[in-house]
Amino acid sequence: MRVIDLHCDTLACAEQDGRDLFRNEGQLDLERGNRLGSWVQTFACFLPSSLRGEEAYQTFLRQRGRLMEALEKYPDALELYHSGIEPAPGKCTALLSVEGGTALAGKAERIEEFKKLGVSFFTLVWNGDNELAHGVGGENAGLTSFGRECLAELEKWNILPDISHLNDLGMADVFSLTEGPVLATHSNLRSVWNHPRNLTEEQFRELVRRKGLCGINYYPAFVNGGSDYEPEALRRHLERMLELGGEDILALGSDYDGAEMPAFLCSVEKLAALREYVVEWYGEGLAEKLFFENARRFLEKNLRV
Ligand SMILES: [Zn+2]
Repeated sequence: MRVIDLHCDTLACAEQDGRDLFRNEGQLDLERGNRLGSWVQTFACFLPSSLRGEEAYQTFLRQRGRLMEALEKYPDALELYHSGIEPAPGKCTALLSVEGGTALAGKAERIEEFKKLGVSFFTLVWNGDNELAHGVGGENAGLTSFGRECLAELEKWNILPDISHLNDLGMADVFSLTEGPVLATHSNLRSVWNHPRNLTEEQFRELVRRKGLCGINYYPAFVNGGSDYEPEALRRHLERMLELGGEDILALGSDYDGAEMPAFLCSVEKLAALREYVVEWYGEGLAEKLFFENARRFLEKNLRV
């Protein structure tokens, strides 16, 4: 099978506990993921809102460093994504993203450097507040003037803004300030489960209008508010997203190693079972769009790497 996943936090775990990317006890490693087939995985560098200044920038570099080390150590299991690449079966193709704009240490000019370091998606804020914006649980305000400056800079350097974690006013600002490509790497629908991290129908429709991308998140707190769920609970999000015209923007945004997972998706190789459910519900064509084709098309059209 072919898979593109828009978000995992494995690099932050690796930075904290030294785990190996090829084989570890967490939810995702190259050995398990590569059994899926052709697999493109976005590895986020995660910066909590409390981490500021040069310390945040250095943390970003260390997390990215873990990916670079793995690329050197496991050339047969891992390669970097670039435009036009055909993901090879049995090998992970890695995209790099930033989750939390404090990584810039307050310097918009670092965005050019981030592009050169391979960053493809950029979440302005995590939960709470930072110098750029306000996330869920933070102040009820839109982007700061520095956040606006950064958004323009991201567009200039073709790093795609990721609206997951932004509060509603921040999302409205992103939508009004840019007509460029926007994605939500790991967000579900608030009308299905009322959690502020989930998108409103209006926000989702705007992603549809823009031909953006929305990666569905498996974290039970965002799916049904419980600690576990049956596949049908995830289907309810898919069902409503499809009703809202989302067939061509749906993608996967697992949140592996960033959140507790439901038992049936507890580890990356379980995606094969999820795909079987989706085939049963909606057929092979929609499964291929959700798991691979929509994200592939979006990346080919919008990302230059
Ligand atoms: Zn997140």
